Amino acid sequence: MRLRNVPGSREAIADSPLAVNEPVLLKGNWSKEFGNGHPVRIEIGMGKGKFITTLAQQNPDINYVGIEKYSSVLIRAIEKCKELDVPNLRFIRMDAEYICDVFEKGEVDRIYLNFSDPWPKDRHVKRRLTSKQFFQRYDAILKEDGIVEFKTDNDSLFQFSLEQVAEAEWHLTEQTWDLHRDERLMKGNVMTEYEEKFSAMGNPIHKLIAGR
Ligand code: SAM
Repeated sequence: MRLRNVPGSREAIADSPLAVNEPVLLKGNWSKEFGNGHPVRIEIGMGKGKFITTLAQQNPDINYVGIEKYSSVLIRAIEKCKELDVPNLRFIRMDAEYICDVFEKGEVDRIYLNFSDPWPKDRHVKRRLTSKQFFQRYDAILKEDGIVEFKTDNDSLFQFSLEQVAEAEWHLTEQTWDLHRDERLMKGNVMTEYEEKFSAMGNPIHKLIAGR
């Protein structure tokens, strides 16, 4: 994702009712924030937010939290939602490394990772959102039957992710190297911004679903 500094984005995020500015205060209290006990699903690295915003509109009985590291990216998602009525959607600007400070054990029902940064250098392996270190964090916040869904067009990141699921002692419930040709797994698929871009270029999209 090309990052351009957007002047005033931090201030605009702080003022938005969609953004949670002190997410650590909501650890264990997300049902109060949403005013209901509906399941909470999160997307980590949501970029401009098309995927999670669409899901929130389609499923009013599920709560969604989008997490994005950069304010210059998050502000785009917030701007797009201004005119929409999505009471079941919140955004957090934070590094997912600190996810366990924000959600209590069992508080999250599902985690979506879409076109996560590949971090190709060996010394950056732990930064990959599908590394076993991240699976440990997901283990600490997901409910017992919670799942992680991951999509990418990056072959080596996908192969790495399949191996990390096994290393973390999780198991795969689904995997495909060509999602868009898999009629069953495509049912209800919501495309992300990157998915639209890369599939239009002819890149096969890979997907896995993992649980414990
Ligand atoms: N998910 C979107 C899509 O599929 O169109 C955006 C994909 S983009 C390649 C990856 C996004 O993840 C970027 O916006 C980046 O800032 C964000 N990101 C990467 N590492 C992150 C982290 N540790 N915590 C939160 N966001 C992160």
